[in-house]
Amino acid sequence: MNADLHCHSTVSDGLLTPTQVVARAAENGVELLALTDHDELGGLAEARLAADAAGIGFLDGVEISVSWGDDTTVHIVALGVDPAQPILRDGLTKVRSGRDSRAARMAEELDKVGIHGAYAGALRFAGNPALISRSHLARYIVQCGHVRDVKTVFDHWLAKGKPGYVSHAWATLEEALGWIAAAGGVAVIAHPGRYRISNKDLHRLCGEFRDLGGQGIEVVSGSHGEDVVRDMARLAREFGLRASRASDFHGPGESWIDIGRMAELPADLIPIWHGLI
Ligand code: AMP
Ligand code: MN
Ligand code: MN
Ligand code: MN
Repeated sequence: MNADLHCHSTVSDGLLTPTQVVARAAENGVELLALTDHDELGGLAEARLAADAAGIGFLDGVEISVSWGDDTTVHIVALGVDPAQPILRDGLTKVRSGRDSRAARMAEELDKVGIHGAYAGALRFAGNPALISRSHLARYIVQCGHVRDVKTVFDHWLAKGKPGYVSHAWATLEEALGWIAAAGGVAVIAHPGRYRISNKDLHRLCGEFRDLGGQGIEVVSGSHGEDVVRDMARLAREFGLRASRASDFHGPGESWIDIGRMAELPADLIPIWHGLI
């Protein structure tokens, strides 16, 4: 099964509309797709219509920003949620409410290091202040000509510890998993190989996540090399988590891998989509 259960549209920080994302997935042979915009459900109705028309399976998803432990941001992907469920909707509204002021604070820090007008510039890319993300700041900084690509912007200014980074309180892990359960979905740890935490902390995260009812982990992710896939498969086995397969596609030229073009899951793991479709 060519399942791709993590991607973004213009409704968060992707470059393609929900309809364009689905069209690209269909072209690339995806059979089951989940749209998982950051903290936002607004693209799901359009994507589902497009997926139905294209004859590909679709799961309603969202990628929730979570603050965990000692100022670590982790992302939890929810799959198969009811987008109308009020507990989930209210929770996500709360998470989004901090984005605007955070972007303003980041812009102030960027101003001090010679990058001016970043708030207004990022807002032009985001459209909606409740959705401003570091990706939009990064696109503005590229547009200004400071560096060539968004990855370099993160390396110089926006990653944790860099001059434009400000820490922020997102949802707690417990809140996010509560909202997902209330909305009838399953929770998946997104791109676990990307967190800059020790192996011990990664184990602690998996344990807490599972104890709170979390069920899945992205073993195959666009940002995981082969070694990382092997390590994450081991974690899935150790904690009894189901495995997800995820491009984390944001748009042509801005992503690790194209939608649906990832490696297969290791054969012994139980795919997260079993029981969801
Ligand atoms: P935010 O939710 O505002 O913290 O923005 C996080 C988003 O920034 C992620 O979802 C990615 O799309 C993007 N991002 C994070 N780190 C990098 C990186 N090193 N290179 C490119 N994009 C990144
Ligand atoms: Mn993103
Ligand atoms: Mn993420
Ligand atoms: Mn993502």
